[in-house]
Amino acid sequence: MRAPAVVLAVALAAACARGGDRTAAGAGPPPLVIGRFADDYGNAFRISPALFEQLPRNRFHIVEWNAAEQYFLARNDAGNSSDSGLWTRVDWMPLTGMEPYTWGFCMTAYRAPTLDSARATTPAVRSVPRRGCAGFPFSRMRVQPVDAGPDTAAMFAMAQALAADSLRGRGPWTPENEHVARYLAARLTALGARPAIGGSILVPFASPPRPADTVYNVVGVLPARGGSVGGQRVGLTAHFDHLGVAAPDERGDSIYNGFLDAALPVAMVLDVARRYAAAPGTKPLVVAFFNLEEQGLLGSLALAGSRPRPLGELAVLIGVDAGSPAGEAVTWQLMGGAPEHAAARIADSLARARGWTTTSTPPRAISDVFPFSQLGVPILFPIPGRTWRGYTDAQRSDAMARFDHYHKPADEARRDFPLTGTWYFADWLWSIVSVVSR
Ligand SMILES: [Zn+2]
Repeated sequence: MRAPAVVLAVALAAACARGGDRTAAGAGPPPLVIGRFADDYGNAFRISPALFEQLPRNRFHIVEWNAAEQYFLARNDAGNSSDSGLWTRVDWMPLTGMEPYTWGFCMTAYRAPTLDSARATTPAVRSVPRRGCAGFPFSRMRVQPVDAGPDTAAMFAMAQALAADSLRGRGPWTPENEHVARYLAARLTALGARPAIGGSILVPFASPPRPADTVYNVVGVLPARGGSVGGQRVGLTAHFDHLGVAAPDERGDSIYNGFLDAALPVAMVLDVARRYAAAPGTKPLVVAFFNLEEQGLLGSLALAGSRPRPLGELAVLIGVDAGSPAGEAVTWQLMGGAPEHAAARIADSLARARGWTTTSTPPRAISDVFPFSQLGVPILFPIPGRTWRGYTDAQRSDAMARFDHYHKPADEARRDFPLTGTWYFADWLWSIVSVVSR
């Protein structure tokens, strides 16, 4: 049992650094529960002695800490999505032997009419953390660094799951395709996204080849700092469909898994969305996962033609497709960056800051962002070039031969896929979104 001791040591070190934080003399919170955390479900929290925040937008103003009985009382912020102005009681408990989770909490009360009634709420039952929170488990919390950069392990795991044989290549008009749509809608919801069109993140449409069959695009909007989803927005997209099951290759494999095309880009978009939710800008972020891209951009064409300004007023719509290079690409084409627009200038200057160069080209009908460019939306579709840091031409060709299997069953998740290029690409995307949404 070494690990819990280490956690305790870290907590004590933090305590020494933070001796001054007290809401009332002698009644301050324990360091264990102060900082940035993520729960079991990936939701992000920020907790200071005075404020409990469920990022991106729900805030609870802490008025009383009871360290001995392990709870705090807070007033729900006026801008919260529900129960504003009412009172919340949060019971916490340390967790041992559950690393990386170090503590758990239960919202024992969340809409008490008064401070006193919140305080008087029957405490959660800490002896049974799995059902001690009104029959539900305590939410487990792990420390989250302020922004540790792209999470390549999470991106690979997500892309691997989307490219699993069980999802049968996310083929058009299949149950597996719809399953993935619902899964991505749930991921966006967990990040705090709200519907951007109508009342649902799942946006139904039908297209000429199968006019009777409803399928879904997945479109959500992450609120700006302060909770607004209106005004000018930034858009980010990748397509989640692939080719499904078709002619077998020489190995007899007939499942077109679409790991690079475009399971990994979907995961990269989610990684950027995660970082946005933890540090939102003044412009909301629209995240669109389009369907039936492989059938001729049908999902994006359906949405672009469905109404004026279908995604709202966009400062830019950024598209990611066909994976990321295995290494750090230092030359990029910015499809859609010509004629020049503000987001293209920002993308270029952020690329230069990394020692890269970009070449802008006009919009072409090769991506889901194209139909939106025809509506006057500034678009960016970055395409990695042929120069990668630390790679000779021969090494790059070798990596392409090993990992790049465009529209073949061999486009599968491989444990040896280097995530270096993914890290740089996803981090650049985040920096563009972060600056444009500022
Ligand atoms: Zn494709």
